[in-house]
Amino acid sequence: MYEWSEEHRAIIDVVRRFVDEEIRPHLDDIEHHGVAPYDILRKMFEVFGLSEVARDTFERLYQRKVAGETAPSGSRAQDPALTLIPTVELCRVSPGLVTSLGVSTGLAAGTINKLGTPEQMRRWALDLMTLEKIGAWAITEPDSGSDALGGMRTSARRDGEEYVLNGQKTWITNGPYADTIVLYAKLDEGDGADVRQRKVLTFVLDRGMDGLEQSAPMRKMGQHGSPTGDVFLHDVRVGRDRLLGGTEGAPGSGRASARDNFVAERAGVAAMALGIIEECERIAIDYAKHRVLWDKPIAEFQLIQLKLANMEVARVNVRNLVFSHIERSKAGVSASFAEASAMKLYAAQAACQVADDAIQVLGGNGYIAEYRVEQLSRDARVLRIYAGTDEMQVVAVAKDLLRD
Ligand SMILES: Cc1cc2nc3c(=O)[nH]c(=O)nc-3n(C[C@H](O)[C@H](O)[C@H](O)COP(=O)(O)OP(=O)(O)OC[C@H]3O[C@@H](n4cnc5c(N)ncnc54)[C@H](O)[C@@H]3O)c2cc1C
Repeated sequence: MYEWSEEHRAIIDVVRRFVDEEIRPHLDDIEHHGVAPYDILRKMFEVFGLSEVARDTFERLYQRKVAGETAPSGSRAQDPALTLIPTVELCRVSPGLVTSLGVSTGLAAGTINKLGTPEQMRRWALDLMTLEKIGAWAITEPDSGSDALGGMRTSARRDGEEYVLNGQKTWITNGPYADTIVLYAKLDEGDGADVRQRKVLTFVLDRGMDGLEQSAPMRKMGQHGSPTGDVFLHDVRVGRDRLLGGTEGAPGSGRASARDNFVAERAGVAAMALGIIEECERIAIDYAKHRVLWDKPIAEFQLIQLKLANMEVARVNVRNLVFSHIERSKAGVSASFAEASAMKLYAAQAACQVADDAIQVLGGNGYIAEYRVEQLSRDARVLRIYAGTDEMQVVAVAKDLLRD
């Protein structure tokens, strides 16, 4: 695949029209007035019939689970492009929307579908996939971060048929508003075992449970379309029905599930980067053609041309990474951890560089909110931090290269 197909282009056109008509006019509400993104996302689901698509996908996954087949994670359609195209197009205007959507339908629902029993899938995942409910996926803690699994301190202590959860998760996307929270915790067997080595369990919590507290949205640099917050657990009692898979040793659970999700997230970030790059390049080219100084458009200055050319190089490279990911997924070949890391590392840095160059091409207007490149630059920055920092991608790539 070296180009979007005709069908893909048709989808791009309708999504773009939706973005122009339904999202751009409300962008300031999301960006500057703290309006949560969920109504816009639900509208998108309604307009494109995505709830129906999600229901069909859910039933397929559910039947496979009942039949004992391994269900693929996430609510992904047959052609991965169908998920990635809206990602690219939404990221042209508000990457935060994609973060919120991806965490809810991809990470939260995806983890439940992958690890959960059929009953758990029906109880929680379907509503998340249709956006009737909003989900969060909580692994990060104040004292763990990049050392997410080893450093995790949130504990699950057995008490009869129940578990008692204590701890804190931080920087959790959708945390302030989530109805359903997929939460990772370390099993505390009271035997004094090294916390780093303890088993990781995955639970599902509902908003309003006793002892569960969700903070207000945090103020942050960018991605205002995606509310972020803390989740506190004070003696939250959960039955086994909330332990994904229903047993402590469910296959693919705990640490393996978290790692699987890191791969999926990293591929998604490349598509997000592509949207940011395409939009910044479009705005920069248009501006360079029309801004006249010394009696000529600044597009005629070679230093400006160099920036535009570098943007194009980034766009082509990131697009090829996305295309290659689509092709491989269709062929059933998933990226290795190191490959997904390399893709995310490059794409995230490219998006930040292109957005920053776009600000430079626009000069003072680049710094002013009206032209949107300052927003995209702030939004792009977190691509180098979440789903694993740049440094952790480097570690993953180097580890693979240096393996004996
Ligand atoms: C907007 C936003 C949304 C998020 N959403 C979620 C979410 O939905 N769910 C969730 O669970 N988490 C979420 N996160 C958390 C995110 O995954 C973490 O911020 C990220 O993993 C980095 O952890 P940290 O911030 O604690 O940085 P730290 O781990 O403290 O890292 C600090 C610095 O040290 C570097 N460093 C750390 N270890 C090494 C090493 N071994 N070698 C070299 N350098 C190293 C890092 O790269 C970084 O530069 C979100 C974060 C943000 C900002």
